[in-house]
Amino acid sequence: MREYKLVVLGSGGVGKSALVCSLQVAVQPAPSPTHSLIFLLQTVQFVQSIFVEKYDPTIEDSYRKQVEVDGQQCMLEILDTAGTEQFTAMRDLYMKNGQGFILVFSITSMVTMNDLYELREQILRVKDTDNVPLVLVGNKCDLEDERMVSREQGMMLSQQWGGKPFYETSARQKINVDEVFYDLVRQINRQ
Ligand code: GDP
Ligand code: MG
Repeated sequence: MREYKLVVLGSGGVGKSALVCSLQVAVQPAPSPTHSLIFLLQTVQFVQSIFVEKYDPTIEDSYRKQVEVDGQQCMLEILDTAGTEQFTAMRDLYMKNGQGFILVFSITSMVTMNDLYELREQILRVKDTDNVPLVLVGNKCDLEDERMVSREQGMMLSQQWGGKPFYETSARQKINVDEVFYDLVRQINRQ
């Protein structure tokens, strides 16, 4: 089975961990002991459709999730970053390793969108190319009343980035979550 190394980036609190955990899995791989609590939480969500309200914001972890994209089984290795890395060298390393990137902001905060410019610059610098598989995500689209970033602003940014795909998602209501990951897999397949 082909493996895909994906990295989820963005400011604290935008919903990176919630998105990773809301991704629907085809088959749950056997959890390692250290991951068992998280897998338990995911299973609870899968069975009862409960949205996990709180993830430890300092936890940076990777998850293996098997999904089916266009009839093909794929093993996603997803790094859910927390911005707690001690050295920029560490960030460079996982950016070098990553094959696809999910850049997440919250539609309730313009600052979180502006934070993505620098992250993208760093990815392009580390990868030394301007054609990196990447998806721009405006999360928390269920919070329409608190919206600070319009859909057009998100689309404009993705256009600036050479027409990269842009999705508005809700990890809470499971809107567009799977699509983000599938899109990234397809971009990597096209490379
Ligand atoms: P991270 O720091 O980027 O990993 O963010 P978390 O996944 O820990 O989420 C931060 C907070 O936002 C938590 O309280 C989540 O419950 C909440 N949250 C995450 N995604 C959504 C969403 O799509 N809608 C709403 N309403 N809240 C969300
Ligand atoms: Mg997190």
